[in-house]
Amino acid sequence: MRLLLLLLTLGLALPAHAEGFISRLLNKPFPGGVAVLDLGNASQAPTARYQGKPVLVIREDGKRWIAIVGIPLGTKQGAQQVEVEGRNLGFEVGERHYREQRITLKNQQQVTPNAKNLARIERELAEQTKAYRLFSPRQPSNLLFDKPVNGPLSSPFGLRRFFNGEERNPHSGLDFAVPQGTPIKAPAAGEVILVGDYFFNGRTVFVDHGQGLISMFCHLSQIDVKVGDSLQRGAVLGKVGATGRATGPHLHWNVSLNDARVDPAIFIGAFKR
Ligand code: ZN
Repeated sequence: MRLLLLLLTLGLALPAHAEGFISRLLNKPFPGGVAVLDLGNASQAPTARYQGKPVLVIREDGKRWIAIVGIPLGTKQGAQQVEVEGRNLGFEVGERHYREQRITLKNQQQVTPNAKNLARIERELAEQTKAYRLFSPRQPSNLLFDKPVNGPLSSPFGLRRFFNGEERNPHSGLDFAVPQGTPIKAPAAGEVILVGDYFFNGRTVFVDHGQGLISMFCHLSQIDVKVGDSLQRGAVLGKVGATGRATGPHLHWNVSLNDARVDPAIFIGAFKR
């Protein structure tokens, strides 16, 4: 009995793992995944930063604060630190293997752009990076996202991609194989923070769900919203298309946390190792 009490006391003294529904759903600590950390039960939300960027903090089940940290694809396996109220909190990043994908494009400019297109790509990248870095105080309406379209998943997140034999950036989002014109719905409430017609992404919409949790939808045939619009969960924001660097109509959806693109499948409960 004494031993049991001792063990219980020791157990309680150890940092508790976040274990509510959202924690279990989202905690996938791999490159391109998410780490969920228990921050305790202070009366006010602690502030947390990862790699210098503010991190999403919510209260789970009305009890403990949890940090939901996006882990960039390029992160090495091993120990990582999140700064919480000036103190370091450690977590481990495990290994995840990403497959290769080979794509043939007719338009060689989309593989090796000329100087004029490179200048355009650089401008557009800066604009989109700024959107991903936005951190608004809004609390996400739901962390278990609705699928933005109903349809089969096609290309998964993280594929190492070769266009006409040349390696380019890995696949930063999740693709759905759905026909041209399919309406795209907001997977959670949010504010439209950027729309554009980009060289690679084609017609694109960025939605801020709050605290650095940002969705991007691209290759649209039509955009039905404008910057500043407030979207309810399920609101239609545009239609599926094949604009930009796309071999055919499909929806490409990015999810970003603290400026790290992470696997959207995690947020719809479809994560596979
Ligand atoms: Zn894609």
